[in-house]
Amino acid sequence: MLVYVLPGTLETRETDLDVLWEAGATGLEERAGRLRAYFDSPADLALDGEWTDEPDQDWQADWKKGLTPVTAGRFTIAPSWLAAEVPPTQIPLLIDPGMAFGTGHHATTRLAVEALGQLDLVGRRVLDVGSGSGVLALAAALGGAAQVLGLDIDPVTLPAAIENAQLNGLKAVPGMPARFETSGGSLSFAVGSLDPDDLGHGSADEPEYDVLVANLFAELHDLLAGAYRAVLHPDSQLILTGILQDRLPLVRGALAREGFTQVSETLDGEWALVTARS
Ligand code: SAM
Repeated sequence: MLVYVLPGTLETRETDLDVLWEAGATGLEERAGRLRAYFDSPADLALDGEWTDEPDQDWQADWKKGLTPVTAGRFTIAPSWLAAEVPPTQIPLLIDPGMAFGTGHHATTRLAVEALGQLDLVGRRVLDVGSGSGVLALAAALGGAAQVLGLDIDPVTLPAAIENAQLNGLKAVPGMPARFETSGGSLSFAVGSLDPDDLGHGSADEPEYDVLVANLFAELHDLLAGAYRAVLHPDSQLILTGILQDRLPLVRGALAREGFTQVSETLDGEWALVTARS
């Protein structure tokens, strides 16, 4: 990487900027009181700068270095290249960053993974509404749930969730690339939302799930609260996050309206997680 370094800043060297661009600069940057002009090949410049040939920077590697494993209760969420850093006492939950939300670095994801980790999921049926990277559905599946479905309205999330399921060693059911065998049963991902067709079976009249987790936002929880209620068995667990603290009254109101009980709130910075029983 060829760099022409001049004393001064973008402001103090304003009159030289055109000269640098015309000489073929591909970019200009101000760093530590010096102006840096990047070139693909040397240029003839009658300015008071100096040429340096610097090693190319691997932005991808630098960015990857910035990602660290995240502890969320009994799970540690980590990108696949840091799998070895997960302490042996923790359940590894491997998620590679991509197009879908949910690497564990957001407080809401972490809160939801922690809340799932506090439940005994063995033999339970879990619905993840807004599954994104698949992180919450995967936490439920790795936590022993019998049947897990992750639904997301955004189709770009589906390949990401499938890839993350594979990262966690889950095998796809032959002919069904979005359905995986787990130690406790099965995990599926689908594009859709809380509509009987998207759930693949059952309907609002036939409650199907023991646990529903959704990391959306308060206004959507308000809209969907009736649908949450409809797909849950009596005495089931609801876990909602993506809620800004100042929107908590909206969610409290929606849960009261739909008859949810034992409402409890966990706060983390500006974010909140709400649990309730149906
Ligand atoms: N579950 C992941 C997590 O906790 O990190 C991702 C949560 S991300 C904040 C919300 C996801 O919900 C997005 O992937 C978005 O596409 C999806 N979404 C938004 N509205 C939805 C809806 N009505 N039904 C299903 N998914 C929805």
